[in-house]
Amino acid sequence: MSEPNLNLSAVSYAYDEGNRKLQILEGADLSVNSGELVALVAPSGAGKSTLLHLGGLLERPQLGEISLCGQPTSKLSDRARTMLRRTSVGFVYQFHHLLPEFSALENIAIPQMIAGVNKSDAEKRALELLAALDVDARASHRPSELSGGEQQRVAIARAAANNPKVILADEPTGNLDPDTSNLVFDALISLIREHNSSAVIATHDHNLARRADRIVTLKDGMVVPTGL
Ligand code: ADP
Repeated sequence: MSEPNLNLSAVSYAYDEGNRKLQILEGADLSVNSGELVALVAPSGAGKSTLLHLGGLLERPQLGEISLCGQPTSKLSDRARTMLRRTSVGFVYQFHHLLPEFSALENIAIPQMIAGVNKSDAEKRALELLAALDVDARASHRPSELSGGEQQRVAIARAAANNPKVILADEPTGNLDPDTSNLVFDALISLIREHNSSAVIATHDHNLARRADRIVTLKDGMVVPTGL
């Protein structure tokens, strides 16, 4: 059995709303292995984004442990968590959040350069990723000159730029038509399989969710398996 790249163990998280607590997770467990894609399907407001933020170390749980690539994170400083996030996690959002004034290629090269890769190596890898996702013909174009599906594939390439072991995607196909959604999902699947990384993909799209290795939902603060 392979090592989980992402492991949540007995995680509890509540938003503090003044005089009451909004309990989102309570004793939640989730383990995602190398090469595995998990679809997270739950109604709006159930806590999908919260779970992805916790898994990506953007928030700290009040209880429990979250490990990335075997490294427990609860006792790490904020600075160490940020470093680990930069090297181990890639985020993909519903709206691409690409930098509008830079080309597709630059949007993928920049995070690598921030991580210390030199410009020519960063651009070479950016082009390889764009080619793997079949958008290399659009490398020199700015996000506003790309279709929605192309923008999302560039956003996936950017999330993968530093070779993270964990990709967390929040409704990555939420604003795309079914055919384009399939293309974008194909891109995610091939990246995860090829690099033996792991993905948790929050989606409302049942057809796409069925293509993941596993489907989970949130119930009573726990992550539980579900069928669709
Ligand atoms: P989902 O992604 O499944 O739609 P979220 O994780 O965004 O759900 O939100 C879960 C619940 O927590 C919702 O009821 C939402 O209103 C609430 N919530 C989200 N962020 C905050 C916050 N910063 N402060 C208080 N409540 C929040």
